[in-house]
Amino acid sequence: MNTVNPVSPAVDRIRAFLADHDPPTPCLVIDIDTVLDNYRSLAEAFPGARIQYAVKANPAGAVLRALVGEGAAFDVASPAEIRRCLAAGARPQSVSYGNPIKKPADIAFAHSAGVDEFCFDSLADLENIAEHAPGARVLARLAVDGPESATPFGHKFGCDAEEAAELLSRAGHLGLRPTGLSFHVGSQQLDPGAWELAIGAAAKVFEASSAGGTALRSLNIGGGFGVDYRAAAPSPHEYAASVLPALRSHFECPPELVLEPGRAIVGAAGLIRGEVVLVANRRGEAERRWVYLDIGRYNGLAETENEAIAYQLEVVEDHPEPDGPVIIAGPTCDGDDVLYQRTPYRLPLSLRPGDQIDILATGAYTASYSSIAFNGIEPLRTYCVSEGRLISAE
Ligand SMILES: *Cc1c(COP(=O)(O)O)cnc(C)c1O
Repeated sequence: MNTVNPVSPAVDRIRAFLADHDPPTPCLVIDIDTVLDNYRSLAEAFPGARIQYAVKANPAGAVLRALVGEGAAFDVASPAEIRRCLAAGARPQSVSYGNPIKKPADIAFAHSAGVDEFCFDSLADLENIAEHAPGARVLARLAVDGPESATPFGHKFGCDAEEAAELLSRAGHLGLRPTGLSFHVGSQQLDPGAWELAIGAAAKVFEASSAGGTALRSLNIGGGFGVDYRAAAPSPHEYAASVLPALRSHFECPPELVLEPGRAIVGAAGLIRGEVVLVANRRGEAERRWVYLDIGRYNGLAETENEAIAYQLEVVEDHPEPDGPVIIAGPTCDGDDVLYQRTPYRLPLSLRPGDQIDILATGAYTASYSSIAFNGIEPLRTYCVSEGRLISAE
């Protein structure tokens, strides 16, 4: 096996499971013990913070149940995610509706299910919340500037500081409880300094709101905490070493801190096993070797769009011969289903159809992004294991 980074205990345990069960590929295996380790590391680095797992990263029932058992809270984006959390045993008060884009009927459903906290970033959504979830706690999502992450949100979300303060004041007049602010510095954010800038901006809104008679108390600093792919990410303690001093320096009275990690909880806990379908040397200006896998953009590797996330690949079979450059593509008939053509990847020259490939740290944003029928490919099967034993398959 050609290993770049040292193999983690999760990878060892998942490979032992795969060797025992030999399931059809492609499949995703999640090591629940690593999910819990990741949760505990963040909780330890940010003592006293409320940690809301962003369900969209991986909504597998076993992941949610394990986190309920740890006392986690949840960030959801739809009625279906609310139902999944409640089915996993979460209390409705532990569920926060973080998506600022929602239909009135979705708000009404959340309210009827007992969900009492909502984020908003527009007047229209705020008015819908006031009508369909009267008396709810609301947080304004702040647009933040700063270093680009691997998968930035662009300008899709958030209001500016002035509008946030105005809308939070309006929330009080609409009978809602203005609670605080949320922001997200972009997913796979490798610069811990990104939070410092956003915290500075948030502190100004807290001051303006307080001066206007609206006392805010909660600051949701979002997700964005990174995972080690081919490039390493900061540790939870390295993020905390930037965030906690920034809170102390910008806030006289530090707010209640909320973290909303998705990727950092499940990313490194997962491994996708796939298989080589075809190897072809395509003659163009320069001959290039294309490797086609049974997993691609549409059945789990959506985050290879723009080659944003460069996963670590390992060939399972031993190949003693040298390796060479490749273009890596998925199995479908779509021209965009190419994983890496600019990012340099090398695979053994003796690679053959049927050889298996492990794609590391693929627990986040894989199964949940998988198409259900494109070209007849099936949704990515997910197996959850704990202490090396299978606990669920979906
Ligand atoms: C996706 C999302 C998260 C999780 O982001 P990660 O980068 O996976 O940690 C948190 N909060 C909101 C509002 C999100 O949309």
